[in-house]
Amino acid sequence: MKKAIVIGSGIAGISSAIRLAVKGFEVTIFDKNEYPGGKLSEVNQDGFRFDAGPSLFTMPQYVDELFQLADKNPQDYFQYEKQTTACHYYWNDGTVFNAPSSTDEFANEANKVFGENKENINKKFEKASYINDKIGQLFLEQSLHKPSNFLNLPTLKGLLSIPKLDINKSLHTANQRDLDHPKLVQLFDRYATYNGSNPYQTPGIMGIIPHFEHNVGTFFPVKGMVSITKSLVKLAQELGVKFKLGEEVVEIEMHSNLAKGVKTVKGFWEADVIISNMDVFFTYRKLLPNFKAPEKVLSRERSSSALIFYWGMDAVFEQLDLHNIFFSDDYKKEFEDIFNNTTEVNDPTIYIHISSKVKKDDAPEGKENWFVMINTPPKGDLNWEQYVANARTKIIQKLSQRLNRDIGSLILNESILDPRSIESKTMSYQGSLYGTSSNDKYAAFLRHPNFSKKIKNLYFVGGSAHPGGGIPLCLLSAKIAVDHVN
Ligand code: FAD
Repeated sequence: MKKAIVIGSGIAGISSAIRLAVKGFEVTIFDKNEYPGGKLSEVNQDGFRFDAGPSLFTMPQYVDELFQLADKNPQDYFQYEKQTTACHYYWNDGTVFNAPSSTDEFANEANKVFGENKENINKKFEKASYINDKIGQLFLEQSLHKPSNFLNLPTLKGLLSIPKLDINKSLHTANQRDLDHPKLVQLFDRYATYNGSNPYQTPGIMGIIPHFEHNVGTFFPVKGMVSITKSLVKLAQELGVKFKLGEEVVEIEMHSNLAKGVKTVKGFWEADVIISNMDVFFTYRKLLPNFKAPEKVLSRERSSSALIFYWGMDAVFEQLDLHNIFFSDDYKKEFEDIFNNTTEVNDPTIYIHISSKVKKDDAPEGKENWFVMINTPPKGDLNWEQYVANARTKIIQKLSQRLNRDIGSLILNESILDPRSIESKTMSYQGSLYGTSSNDKYAAFLRHPNFSKKIKNLYFVGGSAHPGGGIPLCLLSAKIAVDHVN
């Protein structure tokens, strides 16, 4: 039986392991952490449970597909529910917009709250669907680094349509052209943050993202986001995948241009195939120190990072929902501070995710589990002690004003994740959430491929490899990589 090793048990690592096991490999997966899942794990604190990282779940079919591949019924392992409300949006001037998931209801509500012509909204979602039809498959579901993938009619048609998909203007410019109300422009600009980019720089083709949130829909796993990891670990184990947790891989053993195995902190493990779910940057810098790295790829700008406060709250806020956004007044300045000035944001947009709204046992009776996040620059050399302290004060002030309660006094317990701990916990270079940014139109082509042209038997999956970060894309990276394995 051929042996495969997977370095890292992030969502892309676990799904690669499942796919390899289905292909008949004997698979061992190593993680330096004592728990699987990387960013997709959980935090338990004084009776409150929090999903540690991702909170927005789209395209569940890519999770289901893994159970189906193994001839299992997905629902026996993993259940999720479609959400009728996408997000509650708040502005500093008191405007509130509870955005329905359904595109028709969204258009009605946007008309009521902002006086926006319903036709503008309908066209926006139609455009998102159109972009997906033209390039979704091309950019997300196959390698962009195999010339043979381009030699078919749908792909060639997709490529030819790219100039018409707002590739040469920013997402913000495209949104401003399509929508009348500035608050709706801001709402649609926010989709750039779904892959850690800047709406004033990322190309308008990112107008595809609302397709997944509204035309297809958002979902929430009945047992929390972490159940994606837990259910896939269960499936992997049933397929014979061995998990070696708490065992860091320190080197990929090379014989000339052939990857032969890995050295871990405990010993040497031979393999016919190695899949790295470690950030591409650190795979080269730490595991392949003697190999010439693809410097152009490694020097690409990183996506934004984040600061997260996990707060056990001593109250229930009826006006809040599963996903809530409190916008800043000056969105452009906010992104300039994150990407160009790499400095503290004066009035950060705040995201609050409260899973206990739908999964009641995540917080004790009469209380809520708040996951409070702001976007930040990647780690760099900022003074993060100061950054965190200042941001905490600003967040509490802003939320107290908006929600008319003294938020600080309601925090029962707290833990914090910032770019430093994101990097050290998951080995994401600079603590970036989504690998490299999509701030220019070449980003998709300049991500690292899912295989190496120079190293035989080595493959790359996860947020820093093609097609990029976020749960669905990481799942697709595993699919593309393992499809290349013989
Ligand atoms: P990671 O989760 O990065 O895990 C990599 C694993 O590899 C880690 O467990 C690490 O310990 C292990 N590892 C690394 N090096 C080694 C080594 N040398 N030896 C052994 N093990 C090693 N995505 C969404 O879809 N929706 C969201 O709402 C969303 N929100 C997010 C919010 C936050 C705060 C964060 C941090 C991320 C968010 N994301 C979201 C992005 C999403 O979490 C990631 O894109 C995805 O989980 C990354 O998965 P991955 O497979 O790349 O591996």
